[in-house]
Amino acid sequence: MENEQKQIYDLIILGTGPAGITAAIYADRYNLKTAMIGEVFGGTVMYPHKINNFPSYDEISGMDLINNFRKHIDKTECDCIEDQISKVKKEDNLFHVYLRRGDVLISKNILIGLGTFRRKLNVKNEDKFIGKGVHYCAICDAVFYKNKDVVVVGGGEGASMAVLLLAETCNKVYQIIRGDELRTAPDTIEKLEKLNNYSLIKNNEIVEIQGEMLVNKVLLKNEVDNQNAIDIDGVFIEIGGAPNSAIISDLNIDVDEKGYIKVDTTMKTNIDGIWAGGDITNIDGDFKQIINACSQGAIAAHNIYKNMDKK
Ligand SMILES: Cc1cc2nc3c(=O)[nH]c(=O)nc-3n(C[C@H](O)[C@H](O)[C@H](O)COP(=O)(O)OP(=O)(O)OC[C@H]3O[C@@H](n4cnc5c(N)ncnc54)[C@H](O)[C@@H]3O)c2cc1C
Repeated sequence: MENEQKQIYDLIILGTGPAGITAAIYADRYNLKTAMIGEVFGGTVMYPHKINNFPSYDEISGMDLINNFRKHIDKTECDCIEDQISKVKKEDNLFHVYLRRGDVLISKNILIGLGTFRRKLNVKNEDKFIGKGVHYCAICDAVFYKNKDVVVVGGGEGASMAVLLLAETCNKVYQIIRGDELRTAPDTIEKLEKLNNYSLIKNNEIVEIQGEMLVNKVLLKNEVDNQNAIDIDGVFIEIGGAPNSAIISDLNIDVDEKGYIKVDTTMKTNIDGIWAGGDITNIDGDFKQIINACSQGAIAAHNIYKNMDKK
């Protein structure tokens, strides 16, 4: 079979989150021969228990939205492959995408929609309670903690903004930091100091999350009185995220100081044939949302089509 001609795709989409899925829908409309590869169909959308900010649904679970994405993709001609991508190489102006199962797919263009990973605390029971009291996105999930007690972990600007948001509706918000001061802008600190339902707990870290079906307690550790517990309903881990870019590190793509892919307004990177969309790009700063990822995927697919048309 060595002489068998390998299929060359117009576009291979790396990642099956909202950016990749929307790009695939648009690529299909433009008749681009497309493959989309991802480990988890739907990507990070699997995390939110309920989504209240995606048009046409006043409330939908992440899993239901993913099921709808799946039905839509199934109506396209896109080859949707569930696998891990191990590396990507550019050879003779074509991209070779290596999959864990051993296949190598070839394409004229790639669109990187690999998203980010949220930094975890890596403490006992964190994984067990994801979506059941453990959250990584206050913008997304604050709404479910009205009149409840929550803890925010982290002392950066993102964590402090999460406190301000949660304090609007929660009964009590604790912020836990390992050091003795916040790494937050002065005007944010002023706002925090004005809150009457907020406590900053310095020099402490969470060592364990406890609960039954849902979270009800965190155990803290510090050097002075060793161990404490706080009864809470939710834990918001806001210690930052990072782009999922390990597998594309050999492609010499320009990234910003945090490693997010730099794109122009057409979602093109500095390398011909490489496009990017969604959370992995430098476009939306901390405001990483499904709607933005969808939009960027659509813009990328449209411009890939326009670019191919010119060739
Ligand atoms: C807890 C939580 C709650 C959220 N709630 C909301 C909300 O309510 N509303 C909202 O608008 N946004 C919410 N978000 C943000 C939203 O989920 C993201 O902005 C959106 O999913 C980004 O889409 P994406 O396509 O860029 O990346 P992702 O959704 O992260 O998808 C990345 C894709 O890349 C794949 N991938 C990565 N590495 C590899 C590899 N090596 N091989 C193969 N595949 C790979 C993944 O499997 C996945 O398919 C939430 C995020 C979190 C973490």
